[in-house]
Amino acid sequence: MSTTIGKDDPILVAGAGGFIGGWLVRHLHEEGFTNLRAVDLKPFDDWYQLVPGVESRVADLRSLETCREAVRDIAHVYNLACDMGGMGFIEANRAACMISVLINTHLLMAGKDAGLQRYFFASSACIYNVALQQDANVTALREEDAYPAMPEDGYGWEKLFSERMCRNFLDDFGIQTRVARYHNVYGPHGTYDGGREKAPAAICRKVAQAKLTGTDEIEIWGDGEQTRSFMYVDDCLYGTTRIMESDIEDPINLGSSELVTINQLVDVVEEIAGVRLRRRYDLGAPKGVRGRNSDNTLIRDCLGWEPDTSLAVGLEKTYAWIHDELARAQRPLSSAAAAP
Ligand code: NAD
Repeated sequence: MSTTIGKDDPILVAGAGGFIGGWLVRHLHEEGFTNLRAVDLKPFDDWYQLVPGVESRVADLRSLETCREAVRDIAHVYNLACDMGGMGFIEANRAACMISVLINTHLLMAGKDAGLQRYFFASSACIYNVALQQDANVTALREEDAYPAMPEDGYGWEKLFSERMCRNFLDDFGIQTRVARYHNVYGPHGTYDGGREKAPAAICRKVAQAKLTGTDEIEIWGDGEQTRSFMYVDDCLYGTTRIMESDIEDPINLGSSELVTINQLVDVVEEIAGVRLRRRYDLGAPKGVRGRNSDNTLIRDCLGWEPDTSLAVGLEKTYAWIHDELARAQRPLSSAAAAP
């Protein structure tokens, strides 16, 4: 059953202090949605975006009681709340990643009791069987490749379980659940340091840092020949809202199909920055699967669209934002260093 969500319908964005959640609130607000509630665990100072005119709350959605408060008088939920990060984080924090199951479970339970109509869950390409991702020359992953299941341990299992919970809440309780499997999303106003950052942001940060400090070397995790696709955040927002309003009841890929090696990703960022750096490969660092791409046949069939922002265009905006953030952070440091 597809629908058009009314501009005055009450909508909750969970995880609104995060990268995609922050952009989603801004996007919905700019699209004229008037009745938005934004919730995140982090204190407001740590939110990437706080949109004026939107009811914003700090709350821990692992608790059922908090979820009941969050969905009170709400018709539709976008659930983007999750304790997650890039490969370095999810490989070292499997239990923490699995605890996010409480967020999805309690939002659905509270939503069922509150008469929720529609519910979006942000799943991940990490639900796919790792055995299918051992070769850099990948066959792009189709939705049916999720089973037989052997996802990324921790984070991937949590996402796969939560996908099934969404499906069963649709079948048993009639909540119109929608699930998108995001493949690596990047853009400005996201994590670029601290250990949770993903490859595009990490590479932008390292190149910008090298440029700002005048160093000529960059460290790359693995041999740089692992392959991935990366989706610009604008495509993610457009796809997310289209999927939310669609009749697509089964999980669907939402990702770019522009496959690159990490070395090629570095080439693009270096080109944008106008530098060429020596590459030092850390073969012991977390690398994730060897190759992964999104098969977009289903999304093209269902929506007549697929993510199509080129890496060069998306990275230009991302690099510019990260470069400016680093430059801003350095400015007081250098003036402090210069002080007597
Ligand atoms: P993010 O870490 O920037 O945002 C997630 C937000 O959830 C954070 O702000 C965090 O504080 C919040 N959160 C965590 N625990 C919470 C809790 N108990 N209660 C309330 N809020 C809580 O991550 P993101 O990149 O914006 O990802 C958003 C969603 O998309 C996540 O579900 C993630 O798993 C999924 N996803 C992202 C990518 C990607 O490449 N960014 C890829 C696949 C899937």
